[in-house]
Amino acid sequence: MKLIFEKSKPGHGCAILPPLDVAACELPSELRRDSVLRLPELSETEISRHYTGLVHEVYGVNSGFYPLGSCTMKYNPRIDEEMAALPLFTGIHPLAPKEATEGCRRVLEEAGRLLGEISGMDAMTFQPAAGAHGEFTGVLLIKQYHDARGDEKRRKIIVPDSAHGTNPATAAMCGYEVVNIASAPDGCVDLEALKAVLGDDTAGLMLTNPNTVGLFDPNILEITRLVHEAGGLCYYDGANLNAVMGHVRPGDMGFDCVHMNLHKTFATPHGGGGPGAGAVGCKAFLAPFLPKSALMDGGNAIQVRAFAGNFLVVVKALTYILTLGREGIPQASETAVLNANYLMHALKDVFTPAFDRICMHEFVLDLSQYKKETGVSALDVAKGLIDHGIHPPTMYFPLIVHEALMLEPTETESRETLDEVAEIFRKVKEEGMRDPERLHTAPHGTSIGRPDEVMAARNPVLKAEL
Ligand SMILES: *Cc1c(COP(=O)(O)O)cnc(C)c1O
Repeated sequence: MKLIFEKSKPGHGCAILPPLDVAACELPSELRRDSVLRLPELSETEISRHYTGLVHEVYGVNSGFYPLGSCTMKYNPRIDEEMAALPLFTGIHPLAPKEATEGCRRVLEEAGRLLGEISGMDAMTFQPAAGAHGEFTGVLLIKQYHDARGDEKRRKIIVPDSAHGTNPATAAMCGYEVVNIASAPDGCVDLEALKAVLGDDTAGLMLTNPNTVGLFDPNILEITRLVHEAGGLCYYDGANLNAVMGHVRPGDMGFDCVHMNLHKTFATPHGGGGPGAGAVGCKAFLAPFLPKSALMDGGNAIQVRAFAGNFLVVVKALTYILTLGREGIPQASETAVLNANYLMHALKDVFTPAFDRICMHEFVLDLSQYKKETGVSALDVAKGLIDHGIHPPTMYFPLIVHEALMLEPTETESRETLDEVAEIFRKVKEEGMRDPERLHTAPHGTSIGRPDEVMAARNPVLKAEL
């Protein structure tokens, strides 16, 4: 697709300025630019076609199936956007006087109360802008707690090897030493490995449950008990709350603080870089360490972002929770789990599940045998799926499964879609057996197929040279 600058034609345009009705004045020369400002010149039709063309280059949940595991790419109801677009919410200023922000404070309080109910926590902050940012905030709560008690030898945070990469990164960012423990063969926490590393230097444990292979750890109460017994605290990575909301609560599993990705589970679209919100909840004893925001009272020990965070994301979350209600919330997670199991079952004779047991909201396929036989990797299959009009699953994560494809279909997909998707996976698998080269070079129908992933991340070229 051509850049808007390449489409520009001198003299095209669509700006019709009103006649000048004030006295003309010259800008002082030092304020004037030396060269002509280079702006594309296009008619309104051309502009409209350009941006519509860009829309077609983008793949989102509104385009089709998007099973990106651990990311909960579900459809976000329109009503949540409508509420967040209300002028009384969009027009508010964080420094407005208290009497003018009463409604907004009500939103934060209600959302905090309901998310507290869902997560089993007593207090909440909406300051963090994302999940990783929430983890950072939560682990800082743990740190302040130990510091406040003068317990300075607690320098270690335990993280299982199946954890999301943000967990060890967070612990390191907070100045902790990260202690990795290997998962047991069933993908869950190895209790003996945990016991072996617990001690009076343990600051805490970071865990996601269900974990990143989509399994609920049956030993969770024992795990949190052991950590507490050693004097550590338990942090729950709640990015996967879509699997359990309305059924079990991190607070009841023994966790002391948690972050929830409002932009995964609670109706804010994501994947485009934000805005998001990583609401952080904690038990009452940690509440004094929460960030203080302009609109909500809290402690004032740390500050991770200005004011109340991405407030409109909270409006969407509150709308979502209120529209689903007490029955809808558990129904959503039930359907998410049902859909994942349905799809895992439908794919069983296509690719091998990494763990062949009932999963939660997501599951992992292990393509190592298929790769051995055909030379076609998980990456090739993911790229091949694009040619069939669906978004690839998460690849090569979690790290404990080689040639992993991780699928999270979510509750907003129909059975018909899941059947079609299973058929597409079957076709791609057969394609790889028949003509591996075609998958090595897939996708064939997109403007960009295989960027150099290292270069694309380390040295992104975001500006065209014209
Ligand atoms: C998405 C995710 C995160 C990080 O959330 P961001 O908003 O992307 O920072 C952390 N943990 C898990 C398990 C996740 O799936």
